[in-house]
Amino acid sequence: MAATCHFCDARVVGETCGSCGRDQAARRRVCAKCKKMTPVAEPQCSHCGQTFRNELRWKIPVIMIMFVVAIGVSVAVRLNL
Ligand SMILES: [Zn+2]
Ligand SMILES: [Zn+2]
Repeated sequence: MAATCHFCDARVVGETCGSCGRDQAARRRVCAKCKKMTPVAEPQCSHCGQTFRNELRWKIPVIMIMFVVAIGVSVAVRLNL
């Protein structure tokens, strides 16, 4: 059964696009800039080249800092007692 590629709009038979070579079952997201589907695994939009910010990349250090601050506060509270 032929379908349309989610990423390049070419005709696809099977799971992999013969035009762009992308797996049709791969996780995808909508580009904020061009509103087209692009694979989650790729750091840039396959259509307009927009670079995606990895949301985890800034959340991990923030969580680490919060954790260190929480430990620091609990130690400070204990020392004051
Ligand atoms: Zn394609
Ligand atoms: Zn795009």
